[in-house]
Amino acid sequence: MTDAHRSALRHWLSDVRESRDHPHDEGVDPCGVRWQRHAEGVLELTPATASRSAEGAENDAAAQPGYRYDAILSCGIHGDETAPIEIVDGILRDIADGRLTLRERVLVVLGNPDAVRAGKRYLEYDLNRLFQGAHAKRAESPAVQRARELEVIVAQFFAGVDGVRRTRRHVDMHTAIRASLFQRFAVVPGTPQHSPSDDWFDALGAADIEATMRTEQPSVTFSYFTCARFGAQSCTLELGKVAPFGENRLENFSGIDAALRRWLSGGEFEARDDGKSPQPQRFRVAAEIVRRTDAFVLDVPADTPNFTPYPAGTVLARDGENTYTVSHPEERIVFPNPNVANGLRAGVMVVPE
Ligand SMILES: [Zn+2]
Repeated sequence: MTDAHRSALRHWLSDVRESRDHPHDEGVDPCGVRWQRHAEGVLELTPATASRSAEGAENDAAAQPGYRYDAILSCGIHGDETAPIEIVDGILRDIADGRLTLRERVLVVLGNPDAVRAGKRYLEYDLNRLFQGAHAKRAESPAVQRARELEVIVAQFFAGVDGVRRTRRHVDMHTAIRASLFQRFAVVPGTPQHSPSDDWFDALGAADIEATMRTEQPSVTFSYFTCARFGAQSCTLELGKVAPFGENRLENFSGIDAALRRWLSGGEFEARDDGKSPQPQRFRVAAEIVRRTDAFVLDVPADTPNFTPYPAGTVLARDGENTYTVSHPEERIVFPNPNVANGLRAGVMVVPE
């Protein structure tokens, strides 16, 4: 990260300690990008030039810059999920160096700097279980404060700068704890009011996301919050498996990296250089397996990969008198984890859309 010192954007990651002391700096980079740091690890970038598609569309374009999106790009919500941090850091450095021309207004979020520095998923509590107001139900702690702070900053960011309502999009990048039959997949939240469009699934496919998992279950994740509260096109991306900094095989994520760069520089996720339009395998959540009592047993091995399929009739979990039996012709399990507290989700079952 030695070349990160060429720009004020270095504050985003490499100088997070310094940014804690000066959380509200702002300035303009030599490339013309205006940056504002709203909190440690949270940078708002405003482009020097508007996106191509909107140029000339308004004769008062100077007053209404032609960004198409209010974009949020987040990573490091879990501190040990380093590949997305490296991807975002690379994008930021290329913007700062003028190798990538920013044409969208974007909020870049390093979710949990304390956990990133510690190399841990989280410190006292999982940040990605504290959104959509869930922080208010827990005792005060640094994670609770951070969730509250991020919710406020996101609300201010989506409120916009000039009264123009733009498409809101939030890409929250993670890496999975376990192996997966699909190396890159997306959890796509929706609500009855804000159902994700087919375009959004096409866009994710163009970013080499192999599978999508649509869910309308109310949730306390960052991406559910931005979808449910602000109607954003949101997703939680799971990109490969957790690895330390420097040990990630970033070539496995070149599809999402390229798509993010195309989009933020005024193009489309879908406009791949090779002209291809790969489609993700689309799933929807059919059921959740919830641990109710101490008698709960999940009948899958601890290292079961995400999306492992089971045929109808398979008994996957027992909890005293109750059982979970596969009822669709085939269901796949995602995020299996029997070691959750009673009342929490021990696995998600998905079926094809
Ligand atoms: Zn994560």
